[in-house]
Amino acid sequence: MQVHASEIVHHSIDKQALVDLFLLFLDKDCVLSSVEDMSAYECDGLSAYRRLPWIVVLPNTLDQVSKILRTCHAKGIPIVARGAGTGLSGGALPIGNGVLLSLAKFNRILEIDTDNRMARVEPGVRNLAISEAVQPFGLYYAPDPSSQIACSIGGNVAENAGGVHCLKYGLTVHNILALKVFTINGELLELGSAGLDAPGYDLMALMTGSEGLLGVIVEVTVKLLPIPEMAQVLMASFSSVESAGESVAKIIGAGVIPGGLEMMDNPAIRAAEDFVRVGYPVDAAALVLCELDGSPDQVCDEVERVRDLFQRCGADKIRSAQDETERRQLWAGRKAAFPAVGRIAPDYYCMDGTIPRKRLGEVLKRISDLAVQHELAVANVFHAGDGNLHPLILYDANIPGDIERAEEFGGDILELCVSVGGTITGEHGVGVEKINQMCVQFSVAEIQQFHAVKHAFDPDGLLNPGKAIPTLQRCAEFGAMHVHQGQLAFPDLERF
Ligand SMILES: Cc1cc2nc3c(=O)[nH]c(=O)nc-3n(C[C@H](O)[C@H](O)[C@H](O)COP(=O)(O)OP(=O)(O)OC[C@H]3O[C@@H](n4cnc5c(N)ncnc54)[C@H](O)[C@@H]3O)c2cc1C
Repeated sequence: MQVHASEIVHHSIDKQALVDLFLLFLDKDCVLSSVEDMSAYECDGLSAYRRLPWIVVLPNTLDQVSKILRTCHAKGIPIVARGAGTGLSGGALPIGNGVLLSLAKFNRILEIDTDNRMARVEPGVRNLAISEAVQPFGLYYAPDPSSQIACSIGGNVAENAGGVHCLKYGLTVHNILALKVFTINGELLELGSAGLDAPGYDLMALMTGSEGLLGVIVEVTVKLLPIPEMAQVLMASFSSVESAGESVAKIIGAGVIPGGLEMMDNPAIRAAEDFVRVGYPVDAAALVLCELDGSPDQVCDEVERVRDLFQRCGADKIRSAQDETERRQLWAGRKAAFPAVGRIAPDYYCMDGTIPRKRLGEVLKRISDLAVQHELAVANVFHAGDGNLHPLILYDANIPGDIERAEEFGGDILELCVSVGGTITGEHGVGVEKINQMCVQFSVAEIQQFHAVKHAFDPDGLLNPGKAIPTLQRCAEFGAMHVHQGQLAFPDLERF
C-alpha cells in the first residue's frame, strides 16, 4: 500500500534531538530508537505491510503520555498509538518519520464494581483478562474478538471490535460506559458516564472506532454482564452455501437472537477439521454453528425452533452438543479456523466486509467467481449472524505478483460488499488496508465531514496520518482507476 503524497506529515527535527527531549521525562529503557529494538513494532497483524518506526516510546504514567503528546504537537511530529498490535488493517503500522506510542505498560484493572456491574481498566489490559478477573463474581465482558487472549481493550475501543457474541450483546461501543482520552495537545477528556445518558454530543461513541486518529485512550470503563445460566450449540451442515445462508436469515427473521451464529464454507471446514479433529462434516458445502444462551427454559425452546428452521432450509445433518465438553469442541474448530487455514497456504489475507444477511448465499457465490477470475483460492469463515464476512484469500508471498493479486481480489470483495448495500469493514477497521475503498463507500461530502471532525480534534493531522480517512486527493487518484460508466469520480480535483 502506497503512502499518498497528500498524507505525509513533513517536519525537520533531528531524531537525536527528539530522543533527548523524551529523555527529559522518560527513562532510557522507555525510548527505543535502534533498528534492533524497534523491529518488533514494524507491523501489526497485517504483516504484509511493514515499516520501521522512527522512535518508539513506552511510557509508564499518564503524565508521561501527556508530555509525549505535547512534545509531538509542539514539534509537528506524527504519532501512532499502539495496543497489542493484533489489528488486521494496519492501523498501528508505524509512520517512517513518526513516533510509535505503546500503551502496553498500562495493564492494570483499576476497579471492579459488581453492584453497578462495571470495571475501570487501563488501555493495555487484555480483553480476556477482564472476563477472567470478574468471573469469580459471575460476570463477564461480552465483546469477544477471536484475538481476545492478546488484544488490548484500548485497541478494541479504537477499532470498535466485535466477536462471536456481538450479534446478541453488541459491539464494543455498546459495552462501554466511559473513556479517558488525551488530545493531541496532551489535555485529558472524560467522555461518557456511569449513567445511561449523557448531555452534549456523544464523543465517547465518536472516539470508539476512531482508529487512533482523534485521541489516545488511557482509561476505559466497561459494562459487565452476568454469565448466562446455560448455553447450547447446534451445528447444521448443508450441501449448498445458499441454503446455509438462508438458514441464517431465517433464524434472525424468526426473532431468535443467538449468542453466536457463525458459518464456514468447505475449504474452511476441511482446514479446521484437519487441524482440531472435532468431527466437522468435511463433505458439507457449508456449516452453521448456532449458540443459544439464557435461562434453561428459554434455551430449550430456542434450540427446538432453530432445529426446525435448519430442517426447513434443507440441512443434511444437525448435531447438538450433549455436554459442555462437546460444546467447547464444536467451537474449537471455528475458533481455530484462522490458524488452520494458515496451515494450508504459505500466506493468507483476511478481508472483513459486511453485507445484509439475506444476501449471504449470493455474495459467497460471487466471491468464488472472483477467486476463479483472480486465480487464487479463498476460504470463508465468518460471523454470519452479523453478515460480517471474513474471506481468507490464500496466496504465496514468495511468488512474484501474488500479493498484488490478493490485494486486488480483496478490493473487489469490498466493493462487492458495498454494491449489495453493505460496508467495507465489519470489525477490523479501515487502517491502511481499506483506505482506498473508503472512497467507494462514501461521497465527497461525507469524506469532507470526516475531515472536519478530524480537524476539530487534531488540526495539524498528527494522529495516525494516512489511516482510515482518505484525503480527497487519494480518492481522486483511486477514482481515476475506477471510472463507472464513463463518470469520472471527483471531477473537480486535480489528477497527479
Ligand atoms: C487471529 C486474529 C483474530 C482476530 N479476530 C478479531 C475478531 O473476531 N473481531 C475483531 O473485532 N477483531 C479481530 N481481530 C483484530 C484485532 O485483534 C482487533 O482489531 C483489536 O481490537 C486490536 O487491538 P490491539 O490492542 O491489538 O490494537 P492495535 O493493533 O495495537 O491497534 C489497533 C488500532 O487502534 C489504535 N489504538 C490502539 N490502542 C489505542 C489507544 N490506547 N488509544 C488510541 N488508539 C489506539 C491503533 O493506532 C490502531 O489504529 C483479530 C486479529 C487476529 C490477529
